[in-house]
Amino acid sequence: MASPDASDGHFLLMEQQQKPGVGKVYLVGAGPGDPGLITLRGKYLLERAEVVVYDYLANQRLLKHVPAKAQLVYAGKRGGVEHSHTQAEINQMLIDFARQGKMVVRLKGGDPFIFGRGGEEVEELAHHGIAFEVVPGVTSATAAATYAGIPITHRGYTTSVAFLTGHESPDKPTSTIDWSKIATGIGTIVIYMGIKNLPYIVKSLVDNGRSPETPVAVVRWASTPEQQSVVGTLANIVDVVRDTGIKPPALIVIGDVVNLRQTIDWFEKRPLFGKRIIVTRTREQASELVAGLEEAGASCFECSTINIEPVDDYKILDEALERIGEYHWILFTSLNAVRYFFNRLYLKGMDARDLKGPDIATVGKSTADLLLTYGINADLIPPVFTGEGLAQSLLDLGVEGRNILLPRAAAGREILPETLRGAGAQVTVAPLYRNVPVQGRTDELRAELATGRVDLITFTSSSTVKNFLDMVAAENQEELDRLLAGVKIATIGPITAKTVTDGGLTVDIQPERYTIPDLIQAIIETYR
Ligand code: SAH
Repeated sequence: MASPDASDGHFLLMEQQQKPGVGKVYLVGAGPGDPGLITLRGKYLLERAEVVVYDYLANQRLLKHVPAKAQLVYAGKRGGVEHSHTQAEINQMLIDFARQGKMVVRLKGGDPFIFGRGGEEVEELAHHGIAFEVVPGVTSATAAATYAGIPITHRGYTTSVAFLTGHESPDKPTSTIDWSKIATGIGTIVIYMGIKNLPYIVKSLVDNGRSPETPVAVVRWASTPEQQSVVGTLANIVDVVRDTGIKPPALIVIGDVVNLRQTIDWFEKRPLFGKRIIVTRTREQASELVAGLEEAGASCFECSTINIEPVDDYKILDEALERIGEYHWILFTSLNAVRYFFNRLYLKGMDARDLKGPDIATVGKSTADLLLTYGINADLIPPVFTGEGLAQSLLDLGVEGRNILLPRAAAGREILPETLRGAGAQVTVAPLYRNVPVQGRTDELRAELATGRVDLITFTSSSTVKNFLDMVAAENQEELDRLLAGVKIATIGPITAKTVTDGGLTVDIQPERYTIPDLIQAIIETYR
């Protein structure tokens, strides 16, 4: 495998001992949870992996970096609950894949060498003469502290920190942790896997001289939208954890630095933190909406209601392109129209230079922005971002006798072409793609709604509304109301909003300008 950096050099000796064609195992730290917290090196390796063996704690969203043809193996290992594979089986699996000549990424939560058995895995590889490399990761201890607003060290509070495992059972005759030294010898103490043994941990610290008033934070699913954190003192944290029902995986942070959270807490203060949002969208749509909502702290359930597929026949567009110079206007009313139009244009050996004749209009700003990436500056963007808005702007300019090309979805709203024809224009509607409803995710969607955790649903087109309602498959209005009780609805524009009200639901959020950034902003304002 070609690697751009020098890190391979460390294991050159090992590689030279290998038979040619023999694979290599990369033990990669996935980071604590947020998929953005993997290292560049880790991502680089995932992008080239032939096999990925991943753990429960490694965020599965990282698997999107892995090539489609790679083999994915879930190694499980959720502490005590489910062991899909024993450690011996995992070790053997890594050896076997490497011996088959595979480029194997062993993806582990946090840092592989911190309470992750990474040491044991590479020891085994070393014994068997298998080449390996270890890529560190952001460990959950530092992430939990940081994302709970706690600097793990701070000049005014502490100059030392210890990472401990809380896994050791209290009835173990000889604990390897010397609590008498830890209790008062270390400033900040961070404990992994300690929830079950919390009463024992607290007692060990207090019995050995740590003040019962010492502040403690417990952080679950750190750095993810599901993060949950509570604070207390050594004296009451056991009660706090019991009362709030915090479960593993969680970290315990003990020390005076915990008090800084009052000032520094930043992650959980973001406006949409803790909000669960169903985002209905097409698969091909850019994830701009999801990214924007997550940036503000929301946890998104992406519900693809529509697939975009090419039409079978491009005859109308092809003919229009052959006489493109005769058109006065080309109108783009969706991002997909721009994409499919240019694909076809390029396929015919044409490019943006062939479009110098007609003026070009888009229905909104994002379509205009996309158009610019194809080298075209829109001549007209109406002040109101709907088909009606575009029609009105064109009528104001006068369309009588004008030749207008409208490349768009096979089944689109007729209002735009009809209005223009009514005013004396010749309109060619060229179908480019079809919106095909996604089948078969009904159960998943209904289960998500049934959790009662959903705060909001977003709709960005009428077809997402229709298909969402089909997918929810409520028997009647009563059942629909029950499933969506307490759930707010946000729509991108008035047409989508109308489809929502026609479907018997109520629109709660509707931005003044019909763009994704405005929709995100309107949602943030609602919850701020
Ligand atoms: N190698 C990992 C730790 C594995 S031990 C690392 O460096 O982070 C597993 C323990 O890590 C869990 O029981 C929990 O205590 C902690 N942990 C891992 N990810 C966590 C997260 N996102 N939030 C809170 N605790 C986490």
